[in-house]
Amino acid sequence: MATETLTPQRQSDAEGVLFGKGSENTAYAQYFIGKSYLQPLSTEGVNISNVTFEPKCRNNWHIHHKGGQILLVVAGRGWYQEWGKPAQELKPGDVVNIPAEVKHWHGAAKDSWFTHIAIAVPAEGASNEWLEPVVDAEYDKLK
Ligand code: MN
Repeated sequence: MATETLTPQRQSDAEGVLFGKGSENTAYAQYFIGKSYLQPLSTEGVNISNVTFEPKCRNNWHIHHKGGQILLVVAGRGWYQEWGKPAQELKPGDVVNIPAEVKHWHGAAKDSWFTHIAIAVPAEGASNEWLEPVVDAEYDKLK
């Protein structure tokens, strides 16, 4: 008997994201390939947001200056890659500590929605620098 194969996060396109899917992330759309959704969670001293990526969606290479970033993976399957290193597959429960000044990208796998909480590590004069996109030729090598 054939069984339907479900991708890891089919529920998320049905608004099943734990902290809320939020609204389409139009403010940063120029720095992403594909659609992402942003649900701000807190600005009390630390900026915390829930970010949901549709399948194949990823942000451009970027750098968090001065303060780094912490990602808490909530749902789905995704990727994190630092410049010059292999991409790391991410699953719910994974924690990624991104040091300041490290060029990197993060996003969904090709067959799965992906959700992480992003925590901006506070620092005096912190800023983000957005760089080149993760082109298909590079992204399509990932499983
Ligand atoms: Mn980042």
